[in-house]
Amino acid sequence: MFVWRRRVFDRSDDYNWDNAMTPLPIPIDADRFWLRLMAMAEIGKTPGGGVRRLALTDEDRAARDLLSEWFGAVGLRVRVDDLGNMYGRRDGADPDAPPVVIGSHLDTVPTGGRFDGALGVLGALEVVHALNDTGIRTRAPLEVVNWSNEEGARFQPAMLASGVIVGALPLEAAYAARDSTGRTFGDELERIGYRGGAGDRLAQCAAYVELHVEQGPVLERAGAQIGVVEGIEGISWNRVEVTGRAAHAGPTPMADRRDALVAAARLVLLLRDAAQALERVRLTVGRLQVSPNTINVVPGAVEMSLDVRSPRGDGLDAALRAADQACRQVADLDGVTVRRAEFWRSPATPFAERVVEAVASAASRRGYTTKRLWAGAGHDAKYVADRFPAGMIFVPSAGGLSHNEQEWTAPEDCVRGATVLLDTALALAGIVV
Ligand SMILES: [Zn+2]
Repeated sequence: MFVWRRRVFDRSDDYNWDNAMTPLPIPIDADRFWLRLMAMAEIGKTPGGGVRRLALTDEDRAARDLLSEWFGAVGLRVRVDDLGNMYGRRDGADPDAPPVVIGSHLDTVPTGGRFDGALGVLGALEVVHALNDTGIRTRAPLEVVNWSNEEGARFQPAMLASGVIVGALPLEAAYAARDSTGRTFGDELERIGYRGGAGDRLAQCAAYVELHVEQGPVLERAGAQIGVVEGIEGISWNRVEVTGRAAHAGPTPMADRRDALVAAARLVLLLRDAAQALERVRLTVGRLQVSPNTINVVPGAVEMSLDVRSPRGDGLDAALRAADQACRQVADLDGVTVRRAEFWRSPATPFAERVVEAVASAASRRGYTTKRLWAGAGHDAKYVADRFPAGMIFVPSAGGLSHNEQEWTAPEDCVRGATVLLDTALALAGIVV
């Protein structure tokens, strides 16, 4: 039996679980949650056991229709904004309070898994359902969100809709984004019937919390059940041009060569060493274009990509300084010229301390093992954090696999994640009992 005591928390940040005497812990219905996850995974199901549900396709429409039906069944008031973001609202006791927003995305990459995105949306839906079952009323309203086109697999850039909401991207650019067949985001949104009004956008938000699979091996390796995400790492994308001299592979003596590929190979290794010498920095060369790329010609030029990631504010710049040092070293050793140019940067985004601490204390009160970490991939929470207090909850990905049909998160991990989401949302929204 639960012990009830009437109390209104008028400030979410002074909420204290120990004094609350609220009907806790509220359970997540594990079977219902799992059935919904698996039912959603049927839409766009691939023969390999994954999901292909690209943004604004017929599959995405079917997923949205099903979500809309589920929103209605738990009494959420549904609205759709001009980017196709879907919101389901559960009123709070204070009609003027800005909502606590929970959710994620339902679109996937072409050979995606069943949990990336869907876990956060359906976990949020389950939170509302569990509150309904228990008869809990919150002070602030709760809103469940499904963001459009998070993956960027069909329309670039990724996180396009949340980007427009926070003003990082103009609406016209989003509407004009084209897929590989030339269809635009705006037209496809219209076609699937999910173009709502600008007045329906998320305008106020007390806090945003996103439950997501980790997509990496850190939690599993650490034996931690819940990842308390402290922020999203900064990313810098660079183009590196190594220019030597093309020459005949036969008559040109080894000592006379200015081989751009030999220099590039050396640079790849030096960049790896540089990253290892720095703290919490990752440097990746993922693409090489060798010119002229012919069997009997000493390579004259190589264009390389360089992806730099770091959670620290000054981490990207420190890594790029080390990269430039490596470029100079290679230029001296191999008689080539090396030029590096950054063409895109997304700075490191720390999450709001209040939200991060709410996640950490929700997890520890349930007795779950936790690990603090930074997200190495982009998420809508990154853009939301530019404007509103935001945070994320991670649960383990088996083998660290994601963006893969074999992606797997165990049912008990899904339930633990939704449970932390529930307690975090309650702590932030405040309870009226
Ligand atoms: Zn995702």
